[in-house]
Amino acid sequence: MPADLSALIKAGLRDVPDFPEEGVVFKDITPLLAEPSSLQAVVEGIAARYEQAEVDAVLGLEARGFILAAPVALALGAGFVPVRKAGKLPRETYRASYDLEYGSETVEMHADALSPGSRVVIVDDVLATGGTGRAAVELVDKAGGTVVGFSVLVELGFLQGRRRLTDVEPHALAVV
Ligand code: AMP
Repeated sequence: MPADLSALIKAGLRDVPDFPEEGVVFKDITPLLAEPSSLQAVVEGIAARYEQAEVDAVLGLEARGFILAAPVALALGAGFVPVRKAGKLPRETYRASYDLEYGSETVEMHADALSPGSRVVIVDDVLATGGTGRAAVELVDKAGGTVVGFSVLVELGFLQGRRRLTDVEPHALAVV
């Protein structure tokens, strides 16, 4: 991974205050995605980490995780598996829920998406409180897979989301 990848990501992110609600600073990754060399660098930066990991599947977390997980899967010769918000996947699913400040959120994965023993990497754009990531790990566990990696473009360090991911060591290309 180039030493300046973290700087490149930070430069390509756009902070949008009070979106989608007051008090949240939204990390908009669209400028980064629109720049071909940056997009390539981040996909390679994630994939390089797992070249020797014999990965069977890369899980993308809806929605921005999809954008990164699919090319990472191609680079690793692995399959792509979507983890979606509840009610979007048409077949039988595994479900996992996590608490939000108010209420809760549920994510799903097709029950037949992974074979037992599959080696899985989870990819998302932002690690914030860690709830989504925790739920994704739970889905892999339910399917009998093994999480061999967890990568995000950006970790919001002050939220300490990695504390909720006790059995995986999250890898962030940039920490803000
Ligand atoms: P969390 O479950 O709190 O770790 O939140 C992670 C999920 O919410 C990811 O799928 C992100 O896309 C999204 N997310 C949370 N906080 C932000 C933020 N400040 N900017 C952009 N996306 C965010």
